[in-house]
Amino acid sequence: MGTYIVLLGLPGAGKGTQAALLKERLGLPHVTSGGLFREIAEQQSELADKVRAIMAAGDLVPDTITIEIVKERISRDDAQHGVILDGFPRTVPQAEALDALLGETFDASVTLAPFIKLSEAEALERLGGRWVCTQNPNHMYHMKFNPPKADHICDIDGAPLYQREDDTPEAHKHRLDVYMEKTAPLIDYYRDKGLLVEIDGEQSIEAVQETVIAAIESAAQS
Ligand code: ADP
Ligand code: ADP
Repeated sequence: MGTYIVLLGLPGAGKGTQAALLKERLGLPHVTSGGLFREIAEQQSELADKVRAIMAAGDLVPDTITIEIVKERISRDDAQHGVILDGFPRTVPQAEALDALLGETFDASVTLAPFIKLSEAEALERLGGRWVCTQNPNHMYHMKFNPPKADHICDIDGAPLYQREDDTPEAHKHRLDVYMEKTAPLIDYYRDKGLLVEIDGEQSIEAVQETVIAAIESAAQS
């Protein structure tokens, strides 16, 4: 059976950062619903217009659209042995749809849901200083906590860094409210299934990574 990791945590908790590292360590694709939506938002279509407006406001894309898009991604060849999910599921109906998809299509189920815990204040500070590489969105920096070596230039490929359009203080506040209402119930959802593991997200990026890896290894052995 494949390995299906669901990363949970507030916007800014470090899910994307950890998923990019886990991808290298576990050799599994990093599936980010936010990344999939950012690709769609760059296109010219009615769907793209709709997604752009929703993202800019910090609202959630409707479940039916989100589930369809993630389903298509998980069904690709590179995802046969599992995936690291970052930003999906974000609602209980999405989590139920994921369970159904994994069960029906892959005869599999979620392996573990690491919940990266962080205070709201810390999450806001992290979101406010987030800068991303223009070439590769997995190359992520923080102007205070994880700055690039050269001013606003990616260490890995030398491309300029930018701040996401939805990384504004208004959208951040709204995203945290939406999280509390729609996404926080997933903590109990996965806890009830015995899949939740709480991770102290205030640690360094490396320490969080080691804690997550240890939890995944221990889940794989049991
Ligand atoms: P999420 O995907 O959960 O929204 P990100 O991975 O995008 O979170 O991280 C948000 C910001 O915080 C980024 O600028 C990232 O560099 C920074 N960051 C991530 N993990 C840590 C950490 N453990 N300590 C300090 N800063 C971090
Ligand atoms: P962050 O890293 O700040 O947590 P993401 O990159 O995961 O944000 O997501 C950016 C935006 O994409 C969200 O604010 C939302 O509009 C949309 N989005 C991403 N994932 C989902 C999802 N699972 N369900 C609905 N909307 C989503």
